[in-house]
Amino acid sequence: MPYCPKCCDEFQDWVEECPDCRIKLVDELPPLPVEVVREGDLVHIVTAPNEIEARLWKGILEDNGILSMIKVAESLNLYLSPLALEHRLYVLEEDEQEAMEILDGVITFEPEVEDS
Ligand SMILES: [Zn+2]
Repeated sequence: MPYCPKCCDEFQDWVEECPDCRIKLVDELPPLPVEVVREGDLVHIVTAPNEIEARLWKGILEDNGILSMIKVAESLNLYLSPLALEHRLYVLEEDEQEAMEILDGVITFEPEVEDS
């Protein structure tokens, strides 16, 4: 069966072009892209004061089956050691609630200062 590589519709054998997308049909759909964590799906849950804490928390989340990502906070001071840099911990949106509950028992959240 031919498929449209763009809209993934399936067509009769005699169809050569997708009427919607106006592109040539292919015999097989290209393999789905490997599922990747998109940045948009990640939510920032907590900021660690340094790399050690961040790794610790990440490890705790992983022990609970939650994947997380660490991002180093931007700093203009290039001479600061990573140990003195804030590290932000991100998790997938769907894991946010659970991750917060897990970390709640481990760390004390400090209220974040919102930029106004
Ligand atoms: Zn199409």
